[in-house]
Amino acid sequence: MGESDKNQDEIKENPAGPEDKDQARDDDQYEKVCYICRRPESKAGTMISMPGGMNLCHDCMQKAFDTVTKSGMDLSKLPGMPYMNMNLNEMNLNQPGMEIPKKQKIRKKADKQPALSMKDIPAPHQIKARLDEYVVGQEKAKKVVSVAVYNHYKRAFLGGKPEEETVSGPDEEVTIEKSNILMIGPTGSGKTYLVKTLARLLDVPLAIADATSLTEAGYIGDDIESVVSKLLAAADNDVARAEKGIIFIDEIDKIAKKKQTNTRDVSGESVQQELLKLLEGSTVEVPVGSNQKNAMTPMATVNTDNILFICGGAFPDLEEIIKERLTKKSSMGFGAVLRDTFDKDPNLLSYVTNEDLRTFGMIPEFLGRLPMTVTLQGLDRDMMVRILREPKNAITKQYEKLLAMDEVRLVFEDDALDWIAGEAIKRGTGARALRAILEEFMLDIMYEIPKDSNIGSVVVTRPYLEKSGGPLIRMRG
Ligand code: ADP
Repeated sequence: MGESDKNQDEIKENPAGPEDKDQARDDDQYEKVCYICRRPESKAGTMISMPGGMNLCHDCMQKAFDTVTKSGMDLSKLPGMPYMNMNLNEMNLNQPGMEIPKKQKIRKKADKQPALSMKDIPAPHQIKARLDEYVVGQEKAKKVVSVAVYNHYKRAFLGGKPEEETVSGPDEEVTIEKSNILMIGPTGSGKTYLVKTLARLLDVPLAIADATSLTEAGYIGDDIESVVSKLLAAADNDVARAEKGIIFIDEIDKIAKKKQTNTRDVSGESVQQELLKLLEGSTVEVPVGSNQKNAMTPMATVNTDNILFICGGAFPDLEEIIKERLTKKSSMGFGAVLRDTFDKDPNLLSYVTNEDLRTFGMIPEFLGRLPMTVTLQGLDRDMMVRILREPKNAITKQYEKLLAMDEVRLVFEDDALDWIAGEAIKRGTGARALRAILEEFMLDIMYEIPKDSNIGSVVVTRPYLEKSGGPLIRMRG
């Protein structure tokens, strides 16, 4: 059957039209919430929908009704009060015009996406292979993350709740601890990108928050629980999915304890303190569909025990701290190593210990809740070129695809990509600069080429980027 036949059939089956069908499907997915007591339909029973999108539960309606009738008023005589003095149990709640806007509804449990299970989580080597398709280099980080994530979900799906966390077998007493991840790497080395790719391939909801915007409760800024609220939104308000999601807190190094300060440190240490509970697993009440708590927003209870927390940061100066420790240690023995030996080591960050992080200003309790540490390397020129060319959705591939739609072949010379990589390194923002630089040069090409349908191919050359020549253009035929 052709696509159009299928559509015809759909229209016949649903004479109300496709829009109504969508609306009906939409309505099925949400629960109504009482305007007065804020209880959802599953708790308070069938709701009465008032025009204007207001829902009232039977109890609140009865209370309101009793209060007013005690005053001796006959409400049914009032214009605009059509539901008063009716038997609430007999009301037809599916009557047209009684539907309510989505904002007042909470998603019903039954109609959610199928719950995640362990069989949805690929084995570590499969996770790594999928990450390889997108993330260039960072081999160690990809391996550590793949194993950590696999174990995290094993714990989440097979370990059960904390009190049942014991694994049966010879070691009945073994409890699997939560393995949140601390990700350290320079700006633009792919921390966020790695986490985003991970969440996409696992098909779990992801929330990205910035530690600098988080403040202690009672101060201006987002309170700590807002990160859970974001995750719930990313999970389409499905609490069960959110509880198996990932929260990435970026710029975590910015909440380090300040050194030698006499003033009370509201932004750093106390935020670390407040994050402890979330990281280790606790139950939080978060507003649904907003990050503001107020009487009008329905609340949901989310348990963070099986949420994977990944905290990332660039930790500037951490290399100095590591170098300092390593030099001090080695100067005590015979094999004294000079400080500059470490200067040349591109993997210096990978020698990081908890002691270094404590010196940096992270509190021990906080580090204790991030047992896995992953380090990402700063990107060198070769990695930058590979990033331009290799990932499944590499920027050069995207441009090639766009021009292929105009039947024009786009080619990037190796030399040209190398030049872009060199420029990006100068900017010091990691791979983030690559797109910006390339876009700058591609604008003219993307503007001019479609003008002439005789053009068959364009080669982006180094002289074009250095502004000493133009791109190489070949005509068709
Ligand atoms: P940060 O480490 O600061 O979080 P991002 O993950 O935001 O850096 O990286 C910025 C962009 O650079 C990403 O969106 C991605 O396109 C690209 N990128 C960075 N590192 C890599 C990498 N290793 N492989 C592929 N792309 C990368």
